[in-house]
Formats: sequence, C-alpha cells, structure tokens
Amino acid sequence: MAAKVVAKKSRLHGTGLFAARDLAAGERLIEYRGIRYGKDEYPDMGEDATTKFLGLSDGTGIDGTGWAALANHSCDPNCELVEEEGHAPPRAWLYTLKKIKKNEELVWDYRLDVTSSAEAFSDWACFCGSPQCRGTMANPEQLRLPPKKVVRNKSRG
Ligand SMILES: [Zn+2]
Repeated sequence: MAAKVVAKKSRLHGTGLFAARDLAAGERLIEYRGIRYGKDEYPDMGEDATTKFLGLSDGTGIDGTGWAALANHSCDPNCELVEEEGHAPPRAWLYTLKKIKKNEELVWDYRLDVTSSAEAFSDWACFCGSPQCRGTMANPEQLRLPPKKVVRNKSRG
C-alpha cells in the first residue's frame, strides 16, 4: 500500500484513514476500490446499510471495500473524492484539499443521496464534531428538495 496513508482506529467511527506522512494540498492518495455495480444497480443493503456505496457520474457505482472506503465523513473535510475523466467505467480517487500533517485523520464530505430530510437526520446523522457540522452526512443540497428515488448514493454531484 502506498506510504501516503495508514489505517487505524478513529475517534470518529471504527477504523479510519490517516496521513502516513505530511501531505501537500491536491495530492492524489488512493483509488476508491470495491465491488462494481451496473447502472442503477445497488447492493442489497437492508439492515446493514452502510455509507460505502459510491455513485458515479454514469449511473454505475462502487461498493467500497478498499482502503479509501475506510475514510470517514466530516462536514469540514480535508480531502475530497474526485472522479477522474477518461475512464470507463469511471474511477475515483481520494485527494487532499489542503496541507495535512502526518497522523491527521483523512476525512471527506460524503454528501449522501437521501430520500428525505427525516432519513438524513435519523439514518445518516453526523457527529463529526466540527463547528461546521450540519448534523447529517446527507448532501445539503438535497435537504430542501423533493424526495428522490435513489438512496444512499455517495454522489459528488
Ligand atoms: Zn458533521
């Protein structure tokens, strides 16, 4: 595994992803890998709903199983997930948004697709602790929108 990141216990949730050394702003860290799903296909999440499903721009998705999927959510992120052009199916990498010190936790804003604000603040409540915390891992733009059919799609809009 790349020497840029390391997985260890997080104060936020479970196992998180951390900087293995000082990182510059805009560094490409690791690819979001996992089980590929076709257009408009979703894993049967049921009671085990997780935040590891990443929706891609062509309607396909990745149920994250790799190291990138360990990165926790924050409403005040230091990383972002970027879908790079020129790949079919699309591929996405975790990038740093700012300078990050060794041993800092790597977090990004999941902006989950949700069907309702009620769902956003119950199933996907956020306790990231940042002063900017909006109380949910859901996409803030969706909290004012009518219900959508797609759920739990980690879209980056
Ligand atoms: Zn938060």
